[in-house]
Amino acid sequence: MEQTVSLLDAIAPSPGEPGREMLDPATGELVGVSPMHGIAELEAAVAAAKAAQPGWAAAGHEARSAALLAAADAVEAHAEELARILSREQGKPLNGPNARFEVGACAAWLRSAATTPLEPETLVDDGTTKAVLHYRPIGIVGAIGPWNWPMMITVWQIAPALRMGNAAIVKPSNYTPLSVLALIRVVNQALPEGVLHVLAGDREVGAAITTHPAIGKVMFTGSTPTGKAIIRSSADTVKRLTLELGGNDAGIVLPDADPAAIAEGLFWGAFINTGQTCAALKRLYVHADIYDQVCEALTAYAANVPMGVGLEEQNVLGPLQNKAQYQIVADLVEAAKASGARILLGGNPQEDQPGYFYPTTLVADIDNENPLVAEEQFGPALPIVKYTDLDQAIQWANALEVGLGASVWSTDPDKAREVAARLQAGTVWINAHGVVDPRIPFGGAKQSGYGLEFGAEGLKHLAQPQIING
Ligand code: NAD
Repeated sequence: MEQTVSLLDAIAPSPGEPGREMLDPATGELVGVSPMHGIAELEAAVAAAKAAQPGWAAAGHEARSAALLAAADAVEAHAEELARILSREQGKPLNGPNARFEVGACAAWLRSAATTPLEPETLVDDGTTKAVLHYRPIGIVGAIGPWNWPMMITVWQIAPALRMGNAAIVKPSNYTPLSVLALIRVVNQALPEGVLHVLAGDREVGAAITTHPAIGKVMFTGSTPTGKAIIRSSADTVKRLTLELGGNDAGIVLPDADPAAIAEGLFWGAFINTGQTCAALKRLYVHADIYDQVCEALTAYAANVPMGVGLEEQNVLGPLQNKAQYQIVADLVEAAKASGARILLGGNPQEDQPGYFYPTTLVADIDNENPLVAEEQFGPALPIVKYTDLDQAIQWANALEVGLGASVWSTDPDKAREVAARLQAGTVWINAHGVVDPRIPFGGAKQSGYGLEFGAEGLKHLAQPQIING
């Protein structure tokens, strides 16, 4: 605990500077005080980044990779301290696929960005023409992130940016600034001064990043409406954008699936981070032949997964991160109930308890048009829709304007791949959902965004391609 105090102290505003008290969504207790940065701090960060970036770019891949590997070591050296800050501010438990897991992922993605090869590509070399494609730094990259996986998503944005020789300016969500400030403080132990900045400001600071003429690219992860606002606001400076936006991922369970074997995977595909995950399973379509068995197996598994205060080791599900998100989930479940849908589990929040806890909720016999199916709930409430005709299920899965992930569940991998090929989503998993891997590119289809993250493709998206012809 002593260490936690020290990092939180280090990032706190100096006396007299503006600050915002951050409260634990599980208990309402004070976690720490975040500074409140504004446009003046953005200008100072841009000036420092401009001064530092050429040296960072000139240092070369080897030196930058070494720095990122050292940053991964520093994150691991502070892992428990970072996980505790994250757990208390975001709400996710320490244990399970939550806070410690997220900090571990930060180290893994830093290492992957450091070690993924990306060489210049000779495109033509026929004796008369020689054309080589190089990947140059863009300059300064803005990184704007959400509150659900605040540390991991920040690393997804900055690690490839830094590797490719850019400076970066991070703007965390104002629901989770402490987590990101603490992370950047640790990462900066391994980087030259001026290369990496963090500004804990309101959305005005985010908006100013998207219009700033000195910033060449914005990495944005967040909601689809904000993504659209960023496309508009970045137009005048023709900024490069990578947009990872909202989703409403469908999963289709084929009639040959084994309900008992898939229950655990379905549960964590939907409920990881208490459902507050972009590429979580948010609509489940189950064939009528095994509908009842899947509902039973999922309910039996879900009923035994402990939810509670994050610092208590037995818990692996936590509260919603904020009141607005709690209300979205509660309203959608109430509307589903009112429509006559059947609650298999949950749906009965205890309003008199502290914290934004919404119980694990499974809703059966629900129409595809119900808002709990058609809208992104981003919380622990999964609608389970019955289908009899596979073409109909695929049509339902593809009917929305978003397409981040999707999944197919079956004992026949060839059949599952055939169905997967017909789904409109950036990633389709088979017998799993939402599993990300630093070696495998990730990005959305349709209004879930554009651009890829991770692997060599991810590095290319943080570079300015340049052809040398001759
Ligand atoms: P949000 O869009 O409300 O906020 C995201 C960030 O944008 C915050 O830092 C916010 O301060 C900033 N912002 C707000 N208005 C801005 C503007 N006009 N210009 C620049 N920045 C601005 O999203 P959220 O509620 O924090 O996150 C939840 C959403 O994010 C969900 O829809 C979820 O599906 C999506 N998400 C997507 C991915 C992915 O990889 N596709 C990952 C995580 C979350």
